Amino acid sequence: MDEFSLIDVFFKTIPHQQDHVIIGIGDDAACLSVPKGMHLLVSSDTLVSDVHFKPSWSAYDIAYRAVMVNVSDIAAMGGQPCWITLALTVPTVDEQWLKLFSQGLKDSLDRYNMALIGGDTTRGPLCITITVHGFVPKGRAIRRDGASSGDIIYVSGELGAAALALDFLDGQPIDETDKALLMKKLLRPEPRIDLVDCLQAFATAAIDISDGLSADLNHLCVASRLGALLSLDQIPVHPLLKKYRNNNALDIALSGGDDYELCFSVSPEHEEPLLKSLAQSGVTCYPIGVFEKGQAMRVKQFNGEIIPLEARGYRHF
Ligand code: ADP
Ligand code: MG
Repeated sequence: MDEFSLIDVFFKTIPHQQDHVIIGIGDDAACLSVPKGMHLLVSSDTLVSDVHFKPSWSAYDIAYRAVMVNVSDIAAMGGQPCWITLALTVPTVDEQWLKLFSQGLKDSLDRYNMALIGGDTTRGPLCITITVHGFVPKGRAIRRDGASSGDIIYVSGELGAAALALDFLDGQPIDETDKALLMKKLLRPEPRIDLVDCLQAFATAAIDISDGLSADLNHLCVASRLGALLSLDQIPVHPLLKKYRNNNALDIALSGGDDYELCFSVSPEHEEPLLKSLAQSGVTCYPIGVFEKGQAMRVKQFNGEIIPLEARGYRHF
């Protein structure tokens, strides 16, 4: 199978229902229309074999996860995802693998009515780059630099499950039901698209937690030129972390990546309407602290003592 029939069979066949795609896969470039009143959001994420995923994972999971981690960046900007392009590098043409990969792509794109509009296919060490596009009402993108001193910091959902899942990949003993739940957290992250309408109305800043809460919150602090004060007793630690890593559960929740929850802020006067709107979304969000003047992150411990909080999370270099 050559490059072109591979594209025809596994990628061009992925259907979509989008009026905005004027020309999709098959020409020199895609041609797209951005709806009136909308701005276009664009973001890329590369997933490298053995760095972001194990080559032994099912190709379905690899594709599904690759789409979802990209969609998460659109959620963090308060947008709705619409298209992706896919730059795929594979060592060989393994039709079984490509079929599963294509199915994972299709199912993940279907979740948000997204379209695959183009890409590139090359031979080399397994690597996947997806560029996702999304729409946000003009001027309403939620930025990292929008927080003010006194704004309350929230996270969506509980933290640390994906990091714990990575710990168990090497076959350490764990209850089967728990393992299935953790693997789902790692392999099928749920980008918080269901929060974007509430956040767009009230959030002052937002970021998705891909590298770890302390590392990603630090990005909000740097961009907004603020410090932050967190309360250790308010950090939403995933219950399975408490079960399997009780000694350093909080540490993992603060520094573990791959959860793709959102960290966002709201001014005190908008907290009540935001919470009302969030309640309807069905996603539990937890207040974890406040932005404050200064440049450092600090954390209030269980005994009330306040100590510096280091930005720790995954770093490539
Ligand atoms: P060109 O040589 O002009 O860059 P290509 O031969 O690379 O074109 O690609 C042909 C068409 O197939 C283009 O529309 C391109 O966007 C699309 N395409 C290539 N690889 C992929 C892929 N992995 N997924 C989706 N579309 C792809
Ligand atoms: Mg090309």
